[in-house]
Formats: sequence, structure tokens, C-alpha cells
Amino acid sequence: MNLSRLLLVVPCYNEEAILNLTYSTLKAYYAGIKERGLIAADSKICFVNDGSRDKTWDIIEELCHQDDTIIGVKLSRNFGHQSAIMAGLEKYIDDFDCFITIDADLQDDINAITSMIEKHREGAMVVYGVRGDRSSDSWFKRFSAESFYVVMQKMGVPVVFNHADFRLMDRRVLQELGNFKEINMFLRGIVPLIGFRNDKVVYNRLERAAGETKYPLSKMLLFAWNGITSFSTFPMRLVLYFGVFNFMVAMVIVAYIFFSYIIGHTVPGWTSTMLPLTFFSGSNMMALGLIGEYIGKIYEEVKGRPRYIIEKTVNE
Ligand code: UDP
Ligand code: MG
Repeated sequence: MNLSRLLLVVPCYNEEAILNLTYSTLKAYYAGIKERGLIAADSKICFVNDGSRDKTWDIIEELCHQDDTIIGVKLSRNFGHQSAIMAGLEKYIDDFDCFITIDADLQDDINAITSMIEKHREGAMVVYGVRGDRSSDSWFKRFSAESFYVVMQKMGVPVVFNHADFRLMDRRVLQELGNFKEINMFLRGIVPLIGFRNDKVVYNRLERAAGETKYPLSKMLLFAWNGITSFSTFPMRLVLYFGVFNFMVAMVIVAYIFFSYIIGHTVPGWTSTMLPLTFFSGSNMMALGLIGEYIGKIYEEVKGRPRYIIEKTVNE
């Protein structure tokens, strides 16, 4: 059996504190799995510098000079974690058979890589790394992260619970990923949309080995919001529901105003003020929701996602 050529894609943003350690750890691990005949000898590791402001790129360049199994990619500015991953994957799609994306901070247990490769050999086209134990995360991080997955799933985004961006993808899957033309790539939601046979590997999330998180709360919230709005028009539909509800309440109030007017229970001017106010605010909200529905449709179309993906054909 031919061994798969594996490319490990590591996005790096201001990771000077840990990069050398990450390199030596991954390098040693690679040597081990190459020796055990799990991956081809020409498998490589690709560090993508996502517009770091520290010495990250200098370190990557230095590593590339010492070691020709290392590839360095430098983005022109900070494009964000997801785009950094995409850059490494798309650039080398033709040169490798399977791809694993992993954070630079060694929080994802690299020992899961072996299981991922084994599952890939057994035929899985996508292998999701799923965090089993999060006890190394702070209470807040754990709570916010887990709520994130629950809210996403409730809104109909097909995320895999507790899976971040530690995953293996076959080249075939990556080719299909290329047909998702949206700029805002929310990989955790998109990869499950691609389909194909998939599997999971559970690992324990470790502590960041050095440096600090590049995802402070504000960025985390923005990321979650991006994820929701790139997948779901549910928030917009909520406006419509609310509008219909408002309109119905307004109608009841309108009836009451009329009734009060007829029985003469009002001061002059009250009816003519209250009636248009309630009626129009109720119908306004409903109309806004309706417009939202159409904007939602435009938004779905504008993304230009593929309508289907053919896995294979027989007797072509
Ligand atoms: N990262 C990146 N660009 C960014 C932010 C982060 O490439 O704009 C990388 C970062 O270097 C790391 C990975 O994405 O390899 C995950 O970031 P981090 O570990 O800080 O996130 P956390 O694990 O705290 O959620
Ligand atoms: Mg991390």
C-alpha cells in the first residue's frame, strides 16, 4: 500500500514564544510516525505566518533554512485563523494526499495524529479531533466554548460538538472545499457540510505550552457571531416572528382604543394619537421581518455555495 503524504498545516500569529518548541516537538513526532511506516517520507510541515507582529516569521524562515521538510508561508497581513489555515491547505493541495490542521500552541494533543492517520487509512475522508477533557481550560473558557457549540447546533449550524480546527482532511475533501466561495470561511461548519465518510478522535486538551491566547473574549464572540451569521438566517426570522407577534398585540390594542372611543372613555386626542402609533409600529416590525426574509434569500444566493457534491459515479 502506498503511504500517504501528509502535510501538517500550522497557523501562527505572534507565536515567537513557542514556535521553536512546537517545531522540535512536531519534528520528533514526525520522525517517529515516518519510521513506523504510517506516512510517506516526503511528508512535510507547513507553518503559516498570519501577519505576526513579532519574530514569528524570522523563526519560520530560520527553520526552513535548517530543515527542508519545513515549508513557510507568509501572509501579507493578519487575515485570521481560518484564512491562515485555508492558505496553507489550498497552496499545497496538489502536493499531498492528506492534511492535518493543528494550532501552533500544542494545546491539541499531537498523539491524536496517529489515530487520525489510522482512521484515514481505514477509509475516513475527514477525521475530527474532539476535545474530551477540558479540565485544563479555565471555568469560563470551558463554559463559553461549550455554550458556543450548543447555540450553534440549536441555530442549525452543523458543528461537531467540542471540535475546533484540529482535523484531518483527505485531498478529495479539500478539492470540494474549494467550491465554497465565501470569504468568511467558518471551517467548523463548512467541513461537515461537505460530507463523505468521517470519523472522530477524542483527545484531551492540554494547556498552552507558552505565550498567550490569541482569542480574547471579544474575538471569541466575534468568531461565534460570524459562525452564526454565515450559516443561519435564524436571527432574521426571529425579527419576523417578533413582528407578527407585535402586530397581533397591536390589533388587540387597536380594538381596545376603538371600544374606549365608542363608549366615550377617552380624553380628546388620545384615540387619534394611540391608534396610528400602535397600528403602524406593529405593521412596521412585521414588514421589516418580511424584508429580512428576502435579504436572507439574497444572502444565501450570494454565497454561491455548491448545491451538491458528487462523491463518485459508476460506469461513466
Ligand atoms: N491564529 C492565527 N491568526 C489569528 C489568531 C490566531 O493564525 O488571527 C492562530 C494561533 O497562532 C494559533 C491558533 O490560531 O495557532 C489558535 O489560536 P489560540 O491558541 O490563541 O486560540 P485558543 O486556543 O486560545 O482558542
Ligand atoms: Mg490555543
